[in-house]
Amino acid sequence: MSEIIKPNYNIAQVPPGHDGPGFFATSLDKAVGLARKNSIWPLPFATSCCGIEFMAMMGSHYDFARFGSERLSFSPRQADLLMVMGTIAKKMAPVVKQVYEQMAEPRWVLSMGACASSGGIFDTYSVLQGIDRIIPVDVYVPGCPPRPEQVIDGILKIQDLVGNESLRRRNSPEYKDMLATYGIKVD
Ligand code: SF4
Repeated sequence: MSEIIKPNYNIAQVPPGHDGPGFFATSLDKAVGLARKNSIWPLPFATSCCGIEFMAMMGSHYDFARFGSERLSFSPRQADLLMVMGTIAKKMAPVVKQVYEQMAEPRWVLSMGACASSGGIFDTYSVLQGIDRIIPVDVYVPGCPPRPEQVIDGILKIQDLVGNESLRRRNSPEYKDMLATYGIKVD
């Protein structure tokens, strides 16, 4: 009869305060997503009247700080969300693209208003007919100008995207191929 071998280890006890109500298992994706979605730093690229509506949103009445995004970043390298608001002339398009390219991954884009999304009423030779011709856009907010409540709705949609994004997405071939269609190369 074979001898029963007893395992040579002790199972550690859970330290007090680290189990019970208030604790639950989650994934790294979800934990990082939760932190990211509630601390988005926007870069406002405002060129005209939609920018004024954005300023209203930053005031105490609508209170952007409720979403952890009151810290505007005028440096692309410290921004997570590019908010393009207003008419983008074709001469300005390379600047918008350069700002986007200078942002570190992961980065998101919100297009606010008819002009940024489609050129709006300015169907002319000099106006870009939508920023999605030069950079990928995550959320469009319609209107001319959109009300601050609409912009907040757009921000909540961005938060949903940020919170649910896989940590692997930015390294996927699909994402790199999508950027390549805009002529943007990532290492
Ligand atoms: S969408 Fe309307 S409010 Fe916004 S920048 Fe264009 S013209 Fe101005």
